[in-house]
Amino acid sequence: MMKTAVITGASRGIGAVIAKRLNELNYNLVLNYRTNTALMEELINNFTNKESKNIIVQCDISLYEDAKKLIDEAFRTFGRVDVLINNAGITKDNILPLMTEEEFDRVIDINLKGTFNCCKHVAKIMMKQKEGRIVNISSVVGLAGNPGQVNYSASKAGIIGMTKSIARELGKKNILVNAVAPGFIKTEMTDGIPDEIKAKMLESIPLQRFGLPEDIADCVEFLISDKASYITGQVISVNGGFYM
Ligand code: NAP
Repeated sequence: MMKTAVITGASRGIGAVIAKRLNELNYNLVLNYRTNTALMEELINNFTNKESKNIIVQCDISLYEDAKKLIDEAFRTFGRVDVLINNAGITKDNILPLMTEEEFDRVIDINLKGTFNCCKHVAKIMMKQKEGRIVNISSVVGLAGNPGQVNYSASKAGIIGMTKSIARELGKKNILVNAVAPGFIKTEMTDGIPDEIKAKMLESIPLQRFGLPEDIADCVEFLISDKASYITGQVISVNGGFYM
């Protein structure tokens, strides 16, 4: 039986590379994005495995009803959801005295509430199946904190608490829930960081390189595989030793 995975924020960056990997692993995919349809279609056109089926669902996962539509669409098309990857996320950095209410709320709404929305709607399906895997993409800053990211680090720490609570609730239904905490990964999200800050960060990474989206896809591949069937409620850091 072919498995089905839902990936949020799949149009670029880490989400797109996870999508590519799950396509290679022969998953049917439900790919979510918010704005760029052309980018999403290009990704699918470049998939190497043409055997599996893919649908794209444009919606804003911070909206409860949109997230419901995403999961409903997945179930309507494929009749089950084996894997949910909560990857969509944004930053709106500012130091605390200058951070606006809007900057705080938007980051919490997409990163934390969006993750809740998708988990909540998929739980019903996975509970009926008595099987499922959820991987939530947190961040090193959810563990370590970061100046200028009060909103973002709070959202990513919140994801960790949520992951552990859902893992405790749904373990008896054979639903495994874990978080991945990436360090500095080369994507558009980190492109804008000034070079001198990047150089300083590099000095604190024992493996002396920035991460690639593929490093995160490797961890996700493991967490949704049979090899990880006794792992739940964990936060796996993929950060080159940046934080330990
Ligand atoms: P990215 O390149 O900025 O891509 C973000 C993706 O999320 C895009 O596909 C974007 O689609 C989508 N998205 C944003 N808001 C959305 C919404 N409301 N509804 C649906 N989709 C939405 O980011 P990335 O670097 O790949 O990061 C992916 C995840 O890893 C995020 O959760 C991020 O916090 C986390 N992370 C990244 C790093 C890093 O160093 N890059 C480190 C730690 C954690 P649109 O463009 O259409 O909005």
